[in-house]
Amino acid sequence: MRTPLIAGNWKMNTTLDEAVELVGKLRPDLDLIKDVEKVICPPFTSLDRLKKLLKGSSIELGAQNMYFEEKGAYTGEISPLMLAELCDFVIIGHSERRHYFNETEDMIDKKVRAALKVGLTPILCIGETLEENEAGKTEEVLIKQLGSPSSRIYYAGGLVLAYEPVWAIGTGRAASGKQANDTIAFIRQRISKQYGKGVAQEVRILYGGSVTSANIAEFINQPEIDGALVGGASIKADEFLDIVRQASEIKRVR
Ligand code: PEP
Repeated sequence: MRTPLIAGNWKMNTTLDEAVELVGKLRPDLDLIKDVEKVICPPFTSLDRLKKLLKGSSIELGAQNMYFEEKGAYTGEISPLMLAELCDFVIIGHSERRHYFNETEDMIDKKVRAALKVGLTPILCIGETLEENEAGKTEEVLIKQLGSPSSRIYYAGGLVLAYEPVWAIGTGRAASGKQANDTIAFIRQRISKQYGKGVAQEVRILYGGSVTSANIAEFINQPEIDGALVGGASIKADEFLDIVRQASEIKRVR
């Protein structure tokens, strides 16, 4: 049984005061929702304060990115060791990082390894662009993003995957539940081939891309989908609570 996970990616939103206010609205109800792992990923600048505010709660913290070196002359970067003091998860390879900041497969590979080394759970984002989708290249792209057999360490180490078709991120145009389920089934099959059936059955694979309270049920009801990575809807307290509540109810009944 894979525990469902709902993660909120706040992206570059919320000042410190706004982050504290949002957590103040989320915490009382979110804390009580069972059967779903709940992770919020605020900007770096809020992690320390939110860690203190969330002490003793069932809500976990994640970062949105990190560099792969542990320390040194890398002005402006944040290291895995720094994050390990503050949170449990880190989003790696988000499509916005790949596209706006030119992150390559090699860099993403190094980041995943570096995160696992310090005990952070990477939420590794993969997904095809609209052009790749329309050209029928989705599977080819995903295979590349999943890495070579030499990156076996990824899956043994407690990685979470998020299938996020780029065309669905922030567009209001989510994939259908079936579409997402079929692609995630392909990803699991691929992992099974590369790393064995046990690993494939264990790894959690989330869907991400325009998830809201109006469509979360469609995704959570699918057998291959283990949760969601939620962007825009995660900074609206009522909306995020509704998403997590529905996920918990559906998974409890199944
Ligand atoms: C994301 O940022 O990972 C994401 C899926 O964004 P949105 O939910 O806004 O599409």
